[in-house]
Amino acid sequence: MSSNGEPSYDAEARRDTPLALKLKKQIKGDGPLPADEYMRACLQDAEHGYYRNKSAIGSAGDFITAPEITQVFGEIIGAWVAVTWQQMGAPDRLRLVELGPGRGTLMSDITRVLRRVPPLASALSIELLETSEPLREQQRAILADCGFPLAWPAAIEPREGVATILIANEFLDCLAPISWVKGADRWARRLVTVDDLGRLQFATEFMPSAGKHIALRFPDAAEGSVYEEMPSEGFAAGLARIAGQSPLVALLLDYGSSDDGLGDTLQAVRQHAYEHPLASPGEADLTCHVKFSWYREDIEAEGLAVDGPVTQAEFLGALGLVQRASKLMSANPEIAHDIEAGVARIMAVPGMGDRFKVLGARSAGLPPLAGF
Ligand code: SAH
Repeated sequence: MSSNGEPSYDAEARRDTPLALKLKKQIKGDGPLPADEYMRACLQDAEHGYYRNKSAIGSAGDFITAPEITQVFGEIIGAWVAVTWQQMGAPDRLRLVELGPGRGTLMSDITRVLRRVPPLASALSIELLETSEPLREQQRAILADCGFPLAWPAAIEPREGVATILIANEFLDCLAPISWVKGADRWARRLVTVDDLGRLQFATEFMPSAGKHIALRFPDAAEGSVYEEMPSEGFAAGLARIAGQSPLVALLLDYGSSDDGLGDTLQAVRQHAYEHPLASPGEADLTCHVKFSWYREDIEAEGLAVDGPVTQAEFLGALGLVQRASKLMSANPEIAHDIEAGVARIMAVPGMGDRFKVLGARSAGLPPLAGF
């Protein structure tokens, strides 16, 4: 990031990655692609998608996440799972679901804690939703000895008689929003097209009556404003289907804002540096900031209760992260410095501590969740 906080990179850079060539051919044949389809192709294209092929996370990958920074993050979430299970009435069958488990580090740290809670440990099974085969392999390896039944289903289905706790860290930012751009007097869908020089470029398309709902939300938006409509409705409906069968609690952690608002947040990161989102399709991680107000509204509209959003620092602080870290530091003086640095990084304000927000969701009738 540059000093003013905006990513700085060469906005004209375009590389002919295998996916760029494939998309350009497709656009020449079928016309421009909506920007959300572009983002999905970049992340999930069956041949060339970023998450199909790359093992992106960690210091050798493209970006780093809280569980990769410090084990204390996962241990605190593990303790939160134990408390939440109790709040759910200590059901004798509990399914712990993780969406987008990455290298499996968070789940591994959680299970280390849960093994020490015997009545919960005998209730527990684990489901991991992961599209990346290389990451599934890493998850299998790190969780091989965790002691709990593991499954990698293609979708998280409702299950009768089994309570569900669902966790997603840095997953929602991978879900493509529908992007809109304000024209002189109307909102248009943001598209990706090919320019005269044969390079991918953003463009807009005005469709009759489209974008009216945004015009109502932002009547005074300036020309060129971008609005990202969250894909939260389908996500909330999925939670409601699970909660329709048995008690459900969900914990969603991601970077973004608590409020709604205008702004282009689509960003590309490759080898720990920002680049233009059209620069290397399939070889950079593309994400958008999560607007939690959308998730909150849609989850409530489905009849579930929500807690938060609060900042990551507030959530982890309320759960005793600092106390847990100092205990661990006294027990392991040789790594005390690393623990301290990791905790400082995920709790930093301004920084990860306030850029990341946490939203809880629960079946109606369950008590408010710990940490909010
Ligand atoms: N939660 C991990 C990894 C975050 S990266 C951590 O905190 O370290 C995003 C993760 O979501 C990756 O594991 C990626 O493969 C997965 N993912 C992205 N889109 C997905 C989708 N549509 N379905 C399932 N998994 C997805």
